[in-house]
Amino acid sequence: MGSRVLTAGVDIGGTKLLAVAATEKGEIVAERRQPTAEGTEAVLADITAVVADLLAAQPDIAAVGVGLPGLVDLAGVVHYAPNLPGFVGVAAQARLAAACPVPVVVDNDANVAALAEVLHGAGRGHREVLMVTLGTGIGGGLIINGAVNRGGFGFAAEIGHFTVDRDGPVCSCGERGHWEALASGTALGRRAREWAARGDAPHVLARAGGVVAAVTGQGAGESARAGEADGLAILAEHAGDVALGLGGLVNILDPEIVVIGGGLVHLGEALLAPIRAALPAHVEATRLRPMPPVVAAALGEQAGAVGAAALARTLLPPP
Ligand SMILES: [Zn+2]
Repeated sequence: MGSRVLTAGVDIGGTKLLAVAATEKGEIVAERRQPTAEGTEAVLADITAVVADLLAAQPDIAAVGVGLPGLVDLAGVVHYAPNLPGFVGVAAQARLAAACPVPVVVDNDANVAALAEVLHGAGRGHREVLMVTLGTGIGGGLIINGAVNRGGFGFAAEIGHFTVDRDGPVCSCGERGHWEALASGTALGRRAREWAARGDAPHVLARAGGVVAAVTGQGAGESARAGEADGLAILAEHAGDVALGLGGLVNILDPEIVVIGGGLVHLGEALLAPIRAALPAHVEATRLRPMPPVVAAALGEQAGAVGAAALARTLLPPP
């Protein structure tokens, strides 16, 4: 018997499932990843199976945390999850607790990512942190006075879903012109295809074999990282839309630091530098106040899973 108590964290994204077993310090001792299944039952079955798999390898796992991309209430019921079709009114925490041999807690994926970054990552040492996850959608986590702020019903920090362009594209939630619809990873792919279709992105199009439909946001990002003018221009335009929403949130929340996570962070400075450049234009009295640093999530795409594992520690008896 070691004194080391592990917890497991499972992060469900729109496209992939990432599960870890982690120590109290957030060190990952085991990891599993697979594509996200389609449909509620398949997703819940996959979570149960991956927890069983981790438990078989690491019997010291004492609790499980799960981060899901949607509106998760304080009892772990998923009310709505636009990037997980079918996940409406699902008592995920109760169902997983019944299926797993250790206690289970479920929260919003960006909330747990924010928790991970504050405890173990780029937000360490700060009490006012805005976490923004740019992936299939846009998620958010608010650390206010050192704690995750979940709002009155558990649904706080749905920062992807406020209108920045009333004539903009339709969002995954059905509204038009939400920030997510303009600035998510999905939106970057659409933007790159628009540029390619009108003949403005020759390098990006060549990287996709000359087929507009094959152009992806990732391809545009790789083009930018290679210094190609069209890739850089697409990312600069996209960063402008990221900064448009971010500036409003900075005005409202006054964070000490902004931590950017989610699938787009692998683009690194190719994305962050133009966001920093565009942000001041959207922040009140820019030259008369400090600007919060905008940094990449230190835990990268693992933040959600590590944070879910950290959340699971709240289920353990006090030492
Ligand atoms: Zn929306």
